[in-house]
Amino acid sequence: MTFRLTCPVCGKRDVYEFTYGGPERGPRPAEADPASGSQAAGGSDPAAGSDPAAAAEAHFRWAQFRMNRPEPQEEWWHHGAGCGVWFSTWRDPATNREAPPGGAEAGGHEASGRDSS
Ligand SMILES: [Zn+2]
Repeated sequence: MTFRLTCPVCGKRDVYEFTYGGPERGPRPAEADPASGSQAAGGSDPAAGSDPAAAAEAHFRWAQFRMNRPEPQEEWWHHGAGCGVWFSTWRDPATNREAPPGGAEAGGHEASGRDSS
C-alpha cells in the first residue's frame, strides 16, 4: 500500500521516500533527578519536581505509550530519500491520508475514499 506525503520542502512525494518518526508526543516532561532529590532540571512541571515517582511515571508514559487510535494524529516524518528534513504532519491512519491539523471531524475530506456496504 502506498500513499503520498507532503514534504514542506519538496512537495508531495511517495511515502517510501520517508521514514516514520512516530506520533507527536508533546513536550518532554521533567525527569526526576535522584541526585538533587527535589528540583527537576527543567523546573517547568512543579508537580513532577516534588514527586519523583510521579515524574518517573509521567516520563514513562511520554516515552512509551502510543495511543494507536484510528483517528487523525500529528506525526513526525523524515524525508531521508529527499531533502533530509524532519517535519510533522497530520495523517489519518485509517485512510493513510493527510488530515487537517487538529483532527478531521470538520471535513468530509474522505468522501470518495471508502465503499461502505
Ligand atoms: Zn523533502
